[in-house]
Amino acid sequence: MTDKIKEINAQDWEKEVLKQDKVIVDFYSTECPPCEALASKYDSLSQLYGDDVKFIKIFRQGNRELSEKLGVSSSPTILFYEKDQERKERFSGAVKRSDLMQVLGQMVGPERNNAILKQIKPKITETDVLILGAGPAGLTAGLYLAQAQVKTILVDKALPGGYVSTTHLVSNYPGFIEAQQGFMLSHYMSEQAKEAGVEYRAAVDVSEVNLKDKSLLVDGYERIKAKKLIIATGSSPRPLGLKGEIEYRGNGISYCSTCDAKYFKDKEVIVIGGGNSAIEESLFIAKFASKLTIVHQFDHFQANKIAQDKLKALDNVELYLEHEPREFIKHGNMDMEVKAENLKTGELVSIRAAGVFVFVGFIANTSFIQEDVNYDKWGYITADEMMRTTIPGVFAVGDIRSKSYRQITTAVADGTIAALTAAREIDEEK
Ligand SMILES: Cc1cc2nc3c(=O)[nH]c(=O)nc-3n(C[C@H](O)[C@H](O)[C@H](O)COP(=O)(O)OP(=O)(O)OC[C@H]3O[C@@H](n4cnc5c(N)ncnc54)[C@H](O)[C@@H]3O)c2cc1C
Repeated sequence: MTDKIKEINAQDWEKEVLKQDKVIVDFYSTECPPCEALASKYDSLSQLYGDDVKFIKIFRQGNRELSEKLGVSSSPTILFYEKDQERKERFSGAVKRSDLMQVLGQMVGPERNNAILKQIKPKITETDVLILGAGPAGLTAGLYLAQAQVKTILVDKALPGGYVSTTHLVSNYPGFIEAQQGFMLSHYMSEQAKEAGVEYRAAVDVSEVNLKDKSLLVDGYERIKAKKLIIATGSSPRPLGLKGEIEYRGNGISYCSTCDAKYFKDKEVIVIGGGNSAIEESLFIAKFASKLTIVHQFDHFQANKIAQDKLKALDNVELYLEHEPREFIKHGNMDMEVKAENLKTGELVSIRAAGVFVFVGFIANTSFIQEDVNYDKWGYITADEMMRTTIPGVFAVGDIRSKSYRQITTAVADGTIAALTAAREIDEEK
């Protein structure tokens, strides 16, 4: 912690926060990975903005009454105050440096902010291996590399864990008899890699990714250069590309049941899709929702039989088979409409519910790639059995790679192979 940051307790709140001109407050906890990811950003911003804005830290668990009074229920949570008034912006979870800078910039005003921004010195960090994406594939690669004493930096635009951290229960990862909560499994993976010596840049803005140079820019000022680069950026839910979808994304339309199903307790929900993830996720949503309406383009589901049998056993499911969604309309808070076309008759039906979940497959996260690298026809990167892409020294692992089965076990296997190959190549090139 820098000398520009002051740690206070609840009794100092009035004097140190409310009676000051401009203040930023970090409610943190111990044993909190997002708090750790934020700490270095908070430190460096305090060096830049600390003469203009007071930087405060409060230990949340030690100051429960104050936290509850302020509605601070998770760590870290960042609040901003100007002359005893809280600003409307609040950040929690995976807090980005750029988000904080935007508010701090407004607080100090454009002229002073420009002067502050000029003080930011570019930084160059060299490493043996740079891994982009800290899901199971990237974390496993990191673990093997660090255990082989290879200097490794893992960069992720979010917190470490990847998809597993938002998966409700994982029952098929070897070594655990009981199904594991996804966020715990990803927490173990990330702590294990950290313990082995992997350095993280988590919840950061990543730009200027150059595969040939094996370099990228983190948070606009730190350029990381490596001898080898492992791409482990996974895939993202495929959007439907329909009217209203972008507009109501995260505000009526969701792609993650673990994240959002809880908001639909005793409410009606529409699910779009009929593959494995759509039916598995529907089963989870059904624990909360009073009714599920599933809209699917075919006359049968493609999900595994066990999941389909479980779905059939539910008495609150209505099916619109051979229907395709055409438009999303929002009528009000928790009041969504899906216009769907009956593919047999062409008739347009209207379905109303509190919210919509879309599970129609995934697309590879490759938009940051500028160079020529080989892809399969679905846009996934092709690699040989050592995970080497067509660019020397660049590997592709996990869900981003062209393959038949995308699972945690196949992702960690890819990560292992790429790490061992990269470590051997670095040794041979010495
Ligand atoms: C709902 C759901 C349930 C699942 N359940 C299971 C299950 O029960 N068992 C099982 O084995 N598998 C399951 N899977 C599949 C499994 O989660 C994936 O196969 C696995 O997570 C792939 O790991 P990965 O590391 O390749 O990618 P991911 O887990 O997707 O991680 C990719 C990481 O890269 C980061 N990233 C993306 N783009 C960038 C960028 N430009 N810059 C920096 N970072 C970036 C992301 O933030 C993320 O952290 C499930 C998947 C889903 C969607």
